Amino acid sequence: MKFSTEPDLDELMALISKLPGLGPKSARRIALYLLKNRDNVMQPLSKSLAKVHSKIIRCAICGNIKSNEANCDLAKCFYSSKSYEQICVVENIADMWAMESTNVFKGHYHILGGTLSALNGSNPEDLLIHSLINRIKKNNVKEVILATSATIEGQTTAHYINDSIKDLGIKVTKLAHGLPVGGEIEYLDDGTLFSAFKYRNSLLSE
Ligand SMILES: [Zn+2]
Repeated sequence: MKFSTEPDLDELMALISKLPGLGPKSARRIALYLLKNRDNVMQPLSKSLAKVHSKIIRCAICGNIKSNEANCDLAKCFYSSKSYEQICVVENIADMWAMESTNVFKGHYHILGGTLSALNGSNPEDLLIHSLINRIKKNNVKEVILATSATIEGQTTAHYINDSIKDLGIKVTKLAHGLPVGGEIEYLDDGTLFSAFKYRNSLLSE
């Protein structure tokens, strides 16, 4: 959808409309708002975008976001001198934040960066599954908690990971109780998520 006669502004609106939850109309509204507030919003925003773009990256080990100048915030992600017993595997960072807000699990997370999907082309190499196996071995992990969504992709991913790690002889559990079918972790309320975590069950029983 074209609104203006300025190609630069059209480009900005086209980019904004690609953001999650936004379409051409909201993109137009946002672009006009930015133009109107060029000094107090647009300029600091563009500086912040440039800064985050150059400084913030995804940790290749645990999948969390981190500053490229520092070690990962989940530094225990790999090089910890102390071993840890549990590791909770989630699809994305928003899922980890949702889990953390319930306080049900204070241990270490592993963020896959997506799910396996025949439709959108994600395959095991795109996710941090190899790195997960390394972390499990390196840190003597005793239990892997698969906190993927109750969607087909989430469950396919959980089964794939379970198959990949079953020979390691560790306990593998997944979220169960309270997790609605089709429910995405990020959008669950704290109570549902808390209960799904608490009553997770072992995949070995399947
Ligand atoms: Zn890390």
